[in-house]
Amino acid sequence: MTHHQKKLLGWYNEHHRNLPWRQTDDPYRIWISEVMLQQTQVETVLPYYHRFLSTFPTITSLAEADLSQVLKTWEGLGYYARARNLHKAAKIIESDHDGELPHNAASLRQIPGIGEYTAAAIASIVHGEPAPVLDGNVRRVLARWMALREEMDSPSGLKDLRRVAQKYLYRSDPGTWNQAVMELGALVCLPRNPRCDACPVANYCAAYKKEVTTEIPVRRKRNPRPHYQVTAALIVEGGKLLITKRPEKGLLGGLWEFPGGKQEPGETLEECLKRELREELGIETEIGEEFCAVDHAYTHFRITLHVFHASIKSGQPKEIQVADLRWIELGELPQYAFPRADRHVIQKLVTMLGRK
Ligand code: SF4
Repeated sequence: MTHHQKKLLGWYNEHHRNLPWRQTDDPYRIWISEVMLQQTQVETVLPYYHRFLSTFPTITSLAEADLSQVLKTWEGLGYYARARNLHKAAKIIESDHDGELPHNAASLRQIPGIGEYTAAAIASIVHGEPAPVLDGNVRRVLARWMALREEMDSPSGLKDLRRVAQKYLYRSDPGTWNQAVMELGALVCLPRNPRCDACPVANYCAAYKKEVTTEIPVRRKRNPRPHYQVTAALIVEGGKLLITKRPEKGLLGGLWEFPGGKQEPGETLEECLKRELREELGIETEIGEEFCAVDHAYTHFRITLHVFHASIKSGQPKEIQVADLRWIELGELPQYAFPRADRHVIQKLVTMLGRK
């Protein structure tokens, strides 16, 4: 063991957070935690982790569940492709792998939704495979240890980082090593203001020695995110509200929403909503007052969701461009999984009705 490894592992032993997925060697639980942690902070993940595993305690229970139930349990965590992939993967593991996750990183990567990072995490933590993890925290830490000037997410930057990760990996206990580097990134080697004074390996850090910790890692400049105007309709008939299900494939696939869609150039919001309702459901509508407008940011774009009251002038809603549709009581809304922007609308509806 090098002095550098000894320092970091000693620090990890003393300072790591007692997170529930660190107290198990059940690959299923570690898999769920790794997938949830991919794009979400630990504090947000914790209640979801417990809820998900009490609803689906085994791979078999997840494989046998309806996708709608999986999405409902995931509701609010975002990046729903993760939940759809978990469900799909559980079915494949049940049918092709006797209900057991494969034991090495290469085979794990054949499972939908398990990429290089998740495969390395599971294989190293559960099976001790010397596979270095390269999540965002680890990349930042390694780039600083080596004072790498390459853009972290460029192909050559990633190649360098893979080489560096192999060089530092503690092969006698790669699982603990990977977690220690991740924990250093999460608690000490922070993206903007690294806490170098509290860092156990500052003596081995080139960025610290050269006083360039704020310049590293180098990130690729991104174009500003486009901002779309999106419309949605609140259509109520006989005390029931119309909701529609998005097609399974694509963004937010399989989630429920208030019907509508994206504004095209040259359209007013009302024209957009009428067109969307005609195309998606085959109905002609009268658009009423705007109920609310909600801003929401996705990874690659932002939207403002304009929600209007609307009524049907002619036609019966049919599933033309939607996967399903339902007329439901307001009290039934919690049974369905909605994207976050629509959940803000539901919150406003519930608050407004509560005041009446
Ligand atoms: S010395 Fe600072 S920049 Fe270097 S690894 Fe430690 S916290 Fe990160």
